[in-house]
Parts: sequence; structure tokens; C-alpha cells
Amino acid sequence: MVRECRGGRVYVVGAGPGDPELITVKGLRLIQQADVIVYDRLVAKELLDYAKPGAELIYAGKKPGAHTMTQEEINQLLLEKACEGKKVVRLHGGDPYVFGRGEEECIYLREHGVECEVVPGLTSAIAGAAYAGIPVTSRGIASSFAVATGREAPDKDRKMVHYGKIMKTVDTLVVVMGVGNLENIVREMLEEGVDPDLPVAIVEKATTPEQRVVAGRLRDIVEKARRAGVQPPALIIFGHTVELRDKLWRLS
Ligand code: SAH
Repeated sequence: MVRECRGGRVYVVGAGPGDPELITVKGLRLIQQADVIVYDRLVAKELLDYAKPGAELIYAGKKPGAHTMTQEEINQLLLEKACEGKKVVRLHGGDPYVFGRGEEECIYLREHGVECEVVPGLTSAIAGAAYAGIPVTSRGIASSFAVATGREAPDKDRKMVHYGKIMKTVDTLVVVMGVGNLENIVREMLEEGVDPDLPVAIVEKATTPEQRVVAGRLRDIVEKARRAGVQPPALIIFGHTVELRDKLWRLS
């Protein structure tokens, strides 16, 4: 059904990695102007305090395995609010187009005749690593990096992420959504012949006051993570720049 939508517009906005101050100026301005804000679980809640009085705040967060709203429901909600002529902000943790499905939302909205604009955010994959003292590149140490999901969509019949092959091709690999699959990821790398001494760090709740880092090497990181009781959200960072952490870690 194609509806007539008058004046409504959706902004798919990145909220940044966790620290509320790491949103963009444009993202914050749109939050202040929005009639409706549809936000994710990993968005810094302090940002919602900037909403104008009377703005409608809708939680659309998803937990692994326990969906509050399906993606289809989120798409329909955004469309419905835009068709009411509202200025809608769809607020994502990190960057909307980095494992955020913000692009699916914009495509859906445009297919239904609604204007949709992206406002990028700092992805946790890069900014979270930085706050843990780990640059994704460094001259003479790492000239390339990749970001991969640690958990592929369950409906996919074909494996798309080959961790061992990636690690043999790029210098730094940041895995998001990987805590539950750490053991398999590490095993795949070792089977592919990646150096067991490769430095690895896990950064939990990056850029927040509860940020915690567990560091080790490929051969012992699974055990270290188990002992530390690592919980999502966390980044798993593989590569030699992890060792710069001693010089770069951030005083809180
Ligand atoms: N669009 C987001 C990523 C969404 S996928 C971005 O650009 O950052 C969700 C995953 O991102 C989490 O499972 C976790 O691996 C990672 N993540 C998001 N925020 C994080 C944070 N503050 N600390 C550590 N990892 C985080």
C-alpha cells in the first residue's frame, strides 16, 4: 500500500559509541528538533534528555535472541510516524550503517516515498578501540583494518566471514557481536595458521564509565575472557596495535 506522506522526514542518526559527548553536532541538533525519536539499546540514554518537551520517545532495542520489535515493525513505525508529518530521528548506537541496518530503513522509507537522510556516527569499532588505547592503524605496525560481525544472520545458508582468511589479509581486525562466538573465531584463526602470539584485546562497554579491557594473545584469550566473565557489548580486537595500549590507554 502506497500512502501519501506529507512533510514527514526521517533522519537515520548515529549516536556514537557510548559516551554521549561523542555524538555529532548535527545528530544532537536533530535530536533537539525531533517530534519522534526511535532509539536503540546501545544509545547513550543521556542523549534523550535533549529531546524537546512533548517529543515521543520509542524504544526499539533488540537483545540477542529477544526482539523487542522486529526490523519490519521498526520500518513500519518509522513510515507511519513520517506519514503523520512528523520529524523522526531513528537513533542508532555507533554508526547506522555499520551493522546497524540503518540502510535497510532508509531504503524501505524511500521505496515508500518518504525522505530519509543518514547522519553518520562514530562507530564503536574504531572509537571504542581508541578509548581503550588501541588505534586501528599505526605507521609501521598496521596499514589496514577490517570490521566483521562475530555472529552471522541465522537465516544465511552460506558462511560469509572467514576470520582466519581475514586475519591473514589485514593487520587489524575488529569483531563486533562476537563475545558468544569467541571460541570458534579463535579456533578458525589458529586452524588457518594465524600466529598464536597475535595480541588480542576485548573492550567491554567502550567509552562508558564501565569500560573494561581484557587483553591477551590468540592462544590464551578464550580462557582469559572466560575467567573475566566478559559480557556484551564488547569489541574483540586482533592485531599488533593492541600492544600500543600500554602507551595510549586513557586515564579516566
Ligand atoms: N552500529 C554500531 C554497531 C551495532 S552492532 C556501531 O557502529 O558501533 C552491536 C555491537 O557493537 C555490539 O555487540 C558490540 O560488539 C559493539 N558495540 C557497540 N557499542 C559498544 C560499546 N560501547 N562497547 C563495546 N562494543 C560496542
